[in-house]
Amino acid sequence: MPIARVLSIGDELLFGRTVDTNATHLCRLLGDQGMLVDRVEQVGDGEAAIVSALRRACRGAALVVCTGGLGPTDDDRTRHALARLGAVALEERPAAWRAIRACWGRLRPGMAVPEVNRRQALFPCGAESLANDRGTAPGLLMRLPSGCWVACLPGVPHEMVAMADRLARRLPRLVPGLRRPVVAEAWFAGIGESTAQELLAGLFSEGDPTVGITVSELGHITLRVVGSAAPVRRRLAELRQRVEPYLLPHPDLAASLLGACAQRGWTLAAAESCTAGHLAARLGAVPGASRCWRMGVVAYQPMAKRSLLAVPGPLIRRHGLVSAAVAEAMAAGMRRTARADLALATTGLAGPTGEAGIPVGTVWLAAATAAGVVSRQVRIFGGRERVQRRAAAAALQLGWEVVNGMLPPGRTSTH
Ligand code: AMP
Ligand code: MG
Repeated sequence: MPIARVLSIGDELLFGRTVDTNATHLCRLLGDQGMLVDRVEQVGDGEAAIVSALRRACRGAALVVCTGGLGPTDDDRTRHALARLGAVALEERPAAWRAIRACWGRLRPGMAVPEVNRRQALFPCGAESLANDRGTAPGLLMRLPSGCWVACLPGVPHEMVAMADRLARRLPRLVPGLRRPVVAEAWFAGIGESTAQELLAGLFSEGDPTVGITVSELGHITLRVVGSAAPVRRRLAELRQRVEPYLLPHPDLAASLLGACAQRGWTLAAAESCTAGHLAARLGAVPGASRCWRMGVVAYQPMAKRSLLAVPGPLIRRHGLVSAAVAEAMAAGMRRTARADLALATTGLAGPTGEAGIPVGTVWLAAATAAGVVSRQVRIFGGRERVQRRAAAAALQLGWEVVNGMLPPGRTSTH
């Protein structure tokens, strides 16, 4: 596969102030086109540093895509660095300057374009201008004597994304022999990475196909198979077979759960304490959720659990708020209130401070159906937001298992 490299330019990246979303986007885009992205580098705004990073990136590559450093300020040095790399002069292009003025007129009607923006009309001799219809900075495309193409795109993600899409469409003409790989995915949940590794042993590979595994914060695991059509199809079938009971029909647990409910004609409700609406937000994010999802309740204080979900006060006092008994009573109460087929409930300690005898991140989940109530304890490590997010995912997971008749006995697991 032809090699591509991504170079993200800007001091803000190295100061840890800006997340390098451009590199992520470009890696995905270039990989989908059949380029092998084998290295991503970040470099500051210094011209000499950019030149040497570019030189490194271009060695042995068919394409290098840079972002950043194309603005109108003194620290925007990408075009200068490219000219130095190619040992060519910078020239001002009247057509580019006209386009910059026209863009400025569209973005800020009535305001004269500052003289400093003239810098954006500078091009290394022989470089092509890449149109930017979302901002003033045009991109650059230049071929080095080694044959390597260098594309420089602006740092602003909104501008970069549109220009990268156009560049991607040109790639087959720029890079001969490019073949778009087949990318297939399978998703599963309910087992951790280590169990998955045991089940899938021998099926991971790096050639054709390449198999990758990614654990998502949203509660599922993705298997990605990339390569040519027949090997990808065969390997995907083998992988799916090994994790068959845990397979999801959709990469999102909430969508998978709602889909399974729809298939059975079930309605669903959710009662939340520690997840404070995260569960409702996950369900509500799924298009068409209202077909099955009746309602969600955030019952935070004990009085809300008593009045909205009919959780008996003595039960709360006897077992404590973070307990299997309260989670189960919340789910059963929610199911009655909503007259739903399935009700989920969460109660736990999101932190940052724990309570006597109960560590932060302890969460009880419950699911109530006509067949009864099941509950499960999970321990989640991390800050308040992570505990809430992972607990919501674990509740969706429990719901998914219940709807699919996997009805597990109560158990403890760690996330
Ligand atoms: P620049 O083109 O270098 O002037 O960058 C303009 C703005 O785009 C910066 O101030 C950042 O907010 C943003 N930006 C630059 N590089 C990146 C990157 N690699 N990923 C995400 N945002 C970026
Ligand atoms: Mg910059």
